[in-house]
Amino acid sequence: MSTTTLKTRIGEPDIECRYPVIIGQDRVIGQAYRWHRDWLVVTSEGEHNLRRPPTGAKGIDMAAAYLAEEYAAGRVTAVALEQLRADAPKPLHGPVPLLHPRMPASARNIAGAHTAFAGLTEHHWRAVLHGFPGSDNPWYLRCELCGWSGVRYWSHHRGRNGQPPSIYRHDGGCVGAEKVRALIPAYQK
Ligand SMILES: [Zn+2]
Repeated sequence: MSTTTLKTRIGEPDIECRYPVIIGQDRVIGQAYRWHRDWLVVTSEGEHNLRRPPTGAKGIDMAAAYLAEEYAAGRVTAVALEQLRADAPKPLHGPVPLLHPRMPASARNIAGAHTAFAGLTEHHWRAVLHGFPGSDNPWYLRCELCGWSGVRYWSHHRGRNGQPPSIYRHDGGCVGAEKVRALIPAYQK
């Protein structure tokens, strides 16, 4: 059993949905993120997969507890939150690869990525950080109708039962449902 009483808090995620786990005022002992059903941590020592949290437990809490123990044991070092923010990933201006670096280039993933990119084009979205991450992993997209950008999930974008996705594109209003309908043929059926 661990006797550590190190108090941690969770900071705001970056555009890849990685959460900084913070001690004290602003010392980051690692970042935690979910990939499919696993939770992973990134520390001064690299990346480590914690796998799924136990039933009823939150992945982020499991990750924070793990990081607190690692830090208390002297196995990882902390970095200033400000430094982490400065080094955070930023959107690209050019095209992104077909697949997210964590996605194996299987025939299924490649086909899924082509479908997803076609859907993005049809609905005036653009991937501006990385390639297709799968349906349920965060994907940083830009709305080509108004310039908004943020984390999205392809599972919310692909529509259901042959229906297009919600005409409500994102927070902040976008250009309004009427304009969206006029611009995107899928809403005119
Ligand atoms: Zn928009």
